[in-house]
Amino acid sequence: MDGGGRHGTVWASGEGSFVKPASQNRILHVDGDSFFASCEIALDPRLEGRPVWVGGGRRGDGIVIAANRLAKKHGIQTGTACFEAKRLCPGGVLCKPHYEAYRDLSRRMFLILEAYAPTLVPYSIDEGFLDFSTMEAHVWRDTTAADYVQGLRQRVLRETRLPVTAGLGNSAQLAKLATDAAKGTGFLEVPAGREKDFLKDRPVQELSGIGRNRQRSLAALGALTFGHVARLPSMLLKQKFGIWGQQLWLFANGQWNEPLALEIKDRTTLSSSTTLPQDEPDPEAALTFLLSEATRLTGQLRRECMQAREFSLAVRFNDFTEVAACHRFRHPQFLNSVINTVLEQMFREIMAGRDRPVRQIRLALFNLEKLDTHPTLWSRTPEERWGALDDATHELNQKLGKTALMTGAQFALQHSDPSQKQPKAKCPFTPQREMITQLWGAPDPAHPAQGTLF
Ligand SMILES: [Mg+2]
Repeated sequence: MDGGGRHGTVWASGEGSFVKPASQNRILHVDGDSFFASCEIALDPRLEGRPVWVGGGRRGDGIVIAANRLAKKHGIQTGTACFEAKRLCPGGVLCKPHYEAYRDLSRRMFLILEAYAPTLVPYSIDEGFLDFSTMEAHVWRDTTAADYVQGLRQRVLRETRLPVTAGLGNSAQLAKLATDAAKGTGFLEVPAGREKDFLKDRPVQELSGIGRNRQRSLAALGALTFGHVARLPSMLLKQKFGIWGQQLWLFANGQWNEPLALEIKDRTTLSSSTTLPQDEPDPEAALTFLLSEATRLTGQLRRECMQAREFSLAVRFNDFTEVAACHRFRHPQFLNSVINTVLEQMFREIMAGRDRPVRQIRLALFNLEKLDTHPTLWSRTPEERWGALDDATHELNQKLGKTALMTGAQFALQHSDPSQKQPKAKCPFTPQREMITQLWGAPDPAHPAQGTLF
């Protein structure tokens, strides 16, 4: 590089030219607009320009889980009952959820976002953060943040047909608030130094994860907005809320400028919750479902190089009563045969004397420990053999379809229950770990990733 570009010298002399002060963190938050509803429109262009909502629940006609802007104009929100939505807007369209397609669109969206900054931290299926901190000094020449983000939004729309809104600020938390403020306009930048001003009149409940209790305690101190918080003594907030109180005070004063980082946390639990396609009167059929689901979970656990010491099983009946049980092994376990034997026993104990159809089954594996499936030099361990088997099964099923290779329990389930021939896709509400795997390959088992705000 010749050192003298059109817009000044990149290789500036003098100490600290390349080190931006911490106060200049620039974080972009990108968020899909009414994501599930937008996905439905992206999948079926005939829905363009019409009020559209996606229904959750067993048959996709329970409550609204996403509504586009046109539907919202009719008063339809997340949580509205679908029959009520139809009454509010007879000309609107109810869509059943297509979670697999949403995942796919999400993956495509993140692959585009990834090209726009050195660091991308996915936060949910339709939200992520990009680190723009070094862009102004090292990447951008003729452009402004607004132009750059405009280009990003247009490309996402062109290539995935998904509209997104973005906010830019000195922390992930502030960027998220900027996005909320930008809904409908597309982009909002809170310039460095103007954070306190931007926050002044905004209610504290806009902060993600603030919770009712903290809100109430703040209200008791007279703090309803960030402006109120900024005027409180920081020591008082520290006494009341500990470290969170201090962070909140800094945030309200525009001084919270944490750099963007992909936080690393170990998985602590693996669980599944499934409402059966219909209330199941036959306990043996429900058991087959449970064992099949347990097989799937233990397979996933082994692929993540983990094993579990404890289990919980909860069965909910059609009258909404529920019975739960736990089991703790002396040593962590990873074999289907061992785990399924115990689960079957637990299930039979739960069902004893209860003559009601099963509505929902919840299963959780926790107290997880590492499982070493790597080959050893001197012998082939059962762990290694199981690891290899899981990897091969997973790969074949990815190539040939989900049910190309099945265990006995999964096969029995398919034959006993025709509705399981095409298992329904699960809703991807906590997809970050998965998303990272899909974007950048399997995580290092020692460092699965997870992001947090505060
Ligand atoms: Mg969204």
